[in-house]
Amino acid sequence: MGFIDTLDTRPGKTSFHQLPVGRTPLGELSLPLAVVRGAKPGPTVGVISGVHAAEYNGIVTAVRLSKELDPTELSGSVLIVPVVNVRALEVRNPFRNPLDQVNINRVFPGNPYGSISERTAHIVHTEIALKSDAFFDLHSGDLIEAIPLHSSAKRVGNEDVDRTSYELATLFDTGIVNTMGVGIDDTNASSSDEGTYFAGLQSGATSHGAASDAGIPAVLMEAGGAGTVEPSVVQMELDGFENVFRYLGMKSGEPNRDLTHVDTYGMYILKSIHGGLFMPEVGPGDYVQKGQPLGEMWDLQGNVLAEFAAPMAGVVLMMFTTPVRTSGETILIFGRTDE
Ligand SMILES: [Zn+2]
Repeated sequence: MGFIDTLDTRPGKTSFHQLPVGRTPLGELSLPLAVVRGAKPGPTVGVISGVHAAEYNGIVTAVRLSKELDPTELSGSVLIVPVVNVRALEVRNPFRNPLDQVNINRVFPGNPYGSISERTAHIVHTEIALKSDAFFDLHSGDLIEAIPLHSSAKRVGNEDVDRTSYELATLFDTGIVNTMGVGIDDTNASSSDEGTYFAGLQSGATSHGAASDAGIPAVLMEAGGAGTVEPSVVQMELDGFENVFRYLGMKSGEPNRDLTHVDTYGMYILKSIHGGLFMPEVGPGDYVQKGQPLGEMWDLQGNVLAEFAAPMAGVVLMMFTTPVRTSGETILIFGRTDE
């Protein structure tokens, strides 16, 4: 039995709570939690956002879901944590938790005896993801990130989980479904004489990856970004959830299964030993051929320190809106277009 099971909730009602994750000298640190409990029994859907607290489209989508979803029309429950990285939200901090400087989405499934970010991941994993039949983590480009719309699912080698995660990802009108995981994350790691390094992101340490590893179908959303709230993107996510509730039998009506997507694979991170000003020749969502120029790293006299070329054919899934790079920082992220 967990904290969630002790809450006073009623069929056909939405209730708001605080999910405790730890203490600081100032008192309890807790996360906002909405429980939308349907009038009839049915599956449980878990929705979190604000793991990266300056990714606002997901946060606004989660808040609107808790406000607008009618529990009297629902079979089953929806657990919603609109902000996981609460201290980062207060100070508009990108990527990390100001309390321990950890990126929470790199430490799932967490550790109850770890730092506050590891403990937060543990509580979210055990109280939300593991209590769900389907789990969603809503991200977008962070304050300085530009990202094409995509939904993402981790392949874990369990046929049922993998099929359901993928199908849930296709219920959102993102245009790109990116598959990560077994046989994908580890391939094609390489380094070059010019000082670039290229490797797949290990999706097991992410919230949706850890949920899938535990047998819970899960989806990562990457929707809009750069510190903005985009009403059309929020609406796309809300429409996607309407589809999800129909797909799971929690609402009446057929889901729209006719949305079209391009499949991409993996999140391959290009890094460099060179720092400076990165001058890109590609943009977010661009399709690139292997060997295609991606941009140059300049010093502050305009000298070219390094030139970067695409190590594989793929789609640019993430770029930064700032040119500033320090040695070892990510230049950009690709998804492969062939499996
Ligand atoms: Zn994020």
